[in-house]
Amino acid sequence: MSEWTAEDGPVLRIEGLSVRFYVRKSFFSERPIAAVTDVSLDLAMGETVAVVGESGSGKTTLGRATLRLVDASDGQVVFEGEDIAGLEGAAMLSFRRRAQAIFQDPFSSLSPYMRVGDLVAEPLVIHGPSDRSEQEAAVIEALEQVKLSPAAEFADKYPHTLSGGQRQRVSIARAMVLEPDYLVADEPVSMIDASSRAEILYLLKELQAQRDLTFLYITHDLASARHFADRIAVMYAGRIVELAPAEALIEDARHPYTQALLAAVPEADPQNRLRQRPVVGGEPPDAGDLPTGCAFAPRCPAAIAGTCEREIPPLVELDGGHEVACHLYPAASASGVSSATSPSSDAADSTSSAARMKGSSDSG
Ligand code: SF4
Repeated sequence: MSEWTAEDGPVLRIEGLSVRFYVRKSFFSERPIAAVTDVSLDLAMGETVAVVGESGSGKTTLGRATLRLVDASDGQVVFEGEDIAGLEGAAMLSFRRRAQAIFQDPFSSLSPYMRVGDLVAEPLVIHGPSDRSEQEAAVIEALEQVKLSPAAEFADKYPHTLSGGQRQRVSIARAMVLEPDYLVADEPVSMIDASSRAEILYLLKELQAQRDLTFLYITHDLASARHFADRIAVMYAGRIVELAPAEALIEDARHPYTQALLAAVPEADPQNRLRQRPVVGGEPPDAGDLPTGCAFAPRCPAAIAGTCEREIPPLVELDGGHEVACHLYPAASASGVSSATSPSSDAADSTSSAARMKGSSDSG
């Protein structure tokens, strides 16, 4: 474990991070794809931040950039006080050990030719200890931590003999065997049976509490984000459009896109099984050809004509750590709590339009 403590500041500080990819437009030219744009976010020690959004919103690229699996085009990622872009040699090796990932697909992320024990021991070959008996003890401990018991029996199995939930536990054991400080879990339960999902999430939560892990939980599932995360960041077209404590975001979503996502969440109540849900029209924009102004404007039922399609709204704090990037909540009124909690009068009509969209889901 590192020497970093909560008093030293955030474990992870993302500052103005942008990630662009380039795709070939013609033989002579390329065009940039803005996967992540100007994202700033701090993660405190032991905190879980869920990043939520549709496919293509940039959430996976953001997670990968915090692990330096992709390079930042602008801005920086500071891990325990060090800019990860400048890490080399032993410092980079140490970062690789302390920052781990769990990926979505436990079926393709584990080699079918290796036994579970060897899969979990593999990271130790690089990061130590070098002694084989110490490695074996660490593997058994990691398998027990993820509740694959009896551990010695599971260590001898091949991945194809395991269920999806058990394979994901092996992936978690591979990450945990290095005793990381920071974990990115990218859709860790989306490809496993519904019956195992809650168990895996509770397991991650338990491991986090034991080790004071800092967690970036990437998901499209707002319901699991609510239960699992301390804060939720909603991404759209590469930007964070809303960031708030989990309960506040679910109970009092301000951004029309977040409201639309919430309205689309299925309910367990069988009385509502035939209820029509409002769906936001249109498609997410092409990341290589984003609209000027707010990227959500072409789909937004509350768009303010003459403003939203021209100006990109800044992310401003409204109240209680609740931040929104939307012209319905202008920066000028954001510092005053009374005006910040309600939209500007100019935008009142537009806001009620968004509210109607939400309300139609409640009554429809
Ligand atoms: Fe974007 Fe305007 Fe809609 Fe807010 S009201 S989400 S700024 S289009």
